[in-house]
Amino acid sequence: MSRVRTVQQIQRMKRKKQRPRPNDEASYLCDACGEEIVVPVDLSAGESQEYVEDCPVCCRPNIIHAEIDEGGDVRVWAEAEN
Ligand SMILES: [Zn+2]
Repeated sequence: MSRVRTVQQIQRMKRKKQRPRPNDEASYLCDACGEEIVVPVDLSAGESQEYVEDCPVCCRPNIIHAEIDEGGDVRVWAEAEN
């Protein structure tokens, strides 16, 4: 009985290891030129972030919004800076 339980615990640990760490990269579409820009996301900076970044393609500033959910998935989108 206890042996079966041990095996289950090992399987559970293995499954966890397949998701080693949450994504720390995400992409957004530039509001000005429509290019997809991949950005690194600092997961330790909070689950809701907002900052301004110049598009590397067209050099126009975008307001970048980043949200990190409980599972570590990152959602990023851009807004034109006015
Ligand atoms: Zn752009």
